[in-house]
Amino acid sequence: MTISALISRIAEQGQSHPSAPQLSSVAIFKNMLDEEKRIKVDELDDTDGSNITRRELLTRFLLLNAVIDQGPDIVGVRNLLVNVTNDLYSREIRFLHRPLSFFQELGIAINQILSQHQSIKAIRAQEWAQENRSRASRYNLFMDNSRQVLNYAVFRWGVPLALPLLLEKDLGDKPSFSPLLDYLESYPSAERMTNNLKDHERYGLGKAIGDKACHLFAKWLISSYALTRRREPSWGPYSFEVPYDSNAGRVLWRTGYLLHWASEEEYIKRQVIQKGQGKGGLDYIRVTNIRGMPTSRPLPKEIQEAYGEIAVQHLVTHKKKPAKFEIQRLQHPFLLLAKQTIAAFDDGLIYIGTNYCFNHDQPRCEECPLNDLCAGHISSPHLIQNYRT
Ligand code: SF4
Repeated sequence: MTISALISRIAEQGQSHPSAPQLSSVAIFKNMLDEEKRIKVDELDDTDGSNITRRELLTRFLLLNAVIDQGPDIVGVRNLLVNVTNDLYSREIRFLHRPLSFFQELGIAINQILSQHQSIKAIRAQEWAQENRSRASRYNLFMDNSRQVLNYAVFRWGVPLALPLLLEKDLGDKPSFSPLLDYLESYPSAERMTNNLKDHERYGLGKAIGDKACHLFAKWLISSYALTRRREPSWGPYSFEVPYDSNAGRVLWRTGYLLHWASEEEYIKRQVIQKGQGKGGLDYIRVTNIRGMPTSRPLPKEIQEAYGEIAVQHLVTHKKKPAKFEIQRLQHPFLLLAKQTIAAFDDGLIYIGTNYCFNHDQPRCEECPLNDLCAGHISSPHLIQNYRT
């Protein structure tokens, strides 16, 4: 396997199987889409007589979606958001236009979340349990395995809705039609925006959002829906990190991608691999611990050059070419040189991870589009058998 062929194949899969929320199912977005369900780009700055632009409205929806998209079943989570949004708007609770209304009508919001969660569970739990070798009774979209809807509604829905609310308050008597987007675009790059989205002292969402969700949001904002008004490379297709999550970690481990950049011992030292901590006493892959980990392997000159360009001009995390090459960013130079995007690569990982590379000992390798490049399938079955995410 060559590493560039693997990266390219994953991105090709993502190109043909994009993964982004279905805006067309949300009633208030219908008149913003054309017949092919694409956003009418020319009308994004229309306000439709309301207090915010369409661009801002979509941005608020995507931020909320990214925060709650951390549950175990992407389809279920997206249905939950769409159905609750439609329900609340049908009752004139216009919580994306007026975030305060979500808190003023918290009782109704909680009832809708609860009842929609039950309906979605009735439809999806069986299939989810089969695919994940789990029990249908364990199906739960509330995150952190929490069963308390108050915590879920206020923490996971309330915090991302409170951000535009606070920004509006801080603007005082100088209101904007796009306060959230203005704030996000005030950072020098999308990557710097994602860091502040989580960590900013006043406006950061803190523990309500994970690093993965921040990067997922950047992907939708910039690549999937092109909502950003900034046009420079630092807000372009290579300006944010890949939203690495457990699906990505599993595919990248099994294919041999991660072992191309460091040894198993190095991953164990960083607790990316945690011996005996996975399901059934197998080794656990916690790919989020890879953050900041440099590769110990030599890189070709042209990849080093492209990595420098990514760090300085696109991510804007460095003033000059860095001396270390972080594993989490190593697909970027390959994708840049191949003219494939970060979004396509991530969409490919989601597609493979949720349709073929299931988190048990019998993934659908025979049908998987990566099988002729995958080390786990071709020569190292222990990469599949001995690890779980
Ligand atoms: S070939 Fe098998 S192990 Fe490899 S990525 Fe595909 S499903 Fe996963």
